[in-house]
Amino acid sequence: MSRRMTLAVPNKGRLVEPTLELLHDAGLVFEERDRSLVSPVENVPLDILFVRTGDVVEFVRDGVADIGITGADLLAESGIELRVVRRLGYGRCRLAAAVPRDAAQGDVGELAGLRVATAHPASTRSYFAARDIPIEVITLSGAVEVAPRLGLADAIVDLVSSGVTLADNGLREVGSILSSEAILVCGPGVAEAADGLLERLDTMLGAVLAARRRKYLLMNAPAARRSALESLLPGLESPSIVPLAHEGMIAIHAVVEADEIWDLLPRLKAAGASGILVLPIEKLVA
Ligand code: AMP
Repeated sequence: MSRRMTLAVPNKGRLVEPTLELLHDAGLVFEERDRSLVSPVENVPLDILFVRTGDVVEFVRDGVADIGITGADLLAESGIELRVVRRLGYGRCRLAAAVPRDAAQGDVGELAGLRVATAHPASTRSYFAARDIPIEVITLSGAVEVAPRLGLADAIVDLVSSGVTLADNGLREVGSILSSEAILVCGPGVAEAADGLLERLDTMLGAVLAARRRKYLLMNAPAARRSALESLLPGLESPSIVPLAHEGMIAIHAVVEADEIWDLLPRLKAAGASGILVLPIEKLVA
């Protein structure tokens, strides 16, 4: 029997819900309990270890966990080298530089000589050093966006997704220094150790993420409209065409990008399709 693998995931904060949803959607059966330390997965030799988002990288580096899910920004900030197995597409944000709304600076180059407050000092230092822009980094552990108002700093570097928090604090973004999303990471040597489990897990996560971006379309149409409809449906591969019991009618099945659906439906209808069904896809392995 292969040994069980350990996956470290966040126990608090904004990455928790999408991470648990992804793991459940991938078919892993486990109890969340009260997110106490460890949850064994019933159908896969995997234990889920709930830790602080910021500790995932160290746990994986130290071998306490074999693999982990955390933010790309936290891996970059740690300076630790781990293999990024897969980018997970949620928890998207950017590490952005911002100044008070009425400040003179218009881009990051103009921050030279200023005090920049951040909870990401390593990423901030390395970005500005690589561009020969001298700044003074003020390291804070939270409430970075109030630092200019308190007179602690002239500018900030902080994580931003919509930009609303910056605007609410009277700040204006002058540039992005790093873009981030949730990532699956693994420590050295894990691939051999766990008898292909990492690859299986990665395939399942990839299948869920690929399925979320797509929809399954079913429609009926007169056979004479076939080529007009086919040209609207590039999909993954060519669509399936099935003859219907009703002479001269066909059913068309296709996988399409979810983002394109609303543009596509009226065009399919205009090209002769009827009874169009849009169905979710659970998993997709291309
Ligand atoms: P937590 O502080 O535990 O809620 O999680 C912070 C992590 O969530 C960050 O390290 C990022 O990877 C991710 N994240 C996504 N969007 C944002 C955002 N707007 N602000 C802060 N963190 C974000």
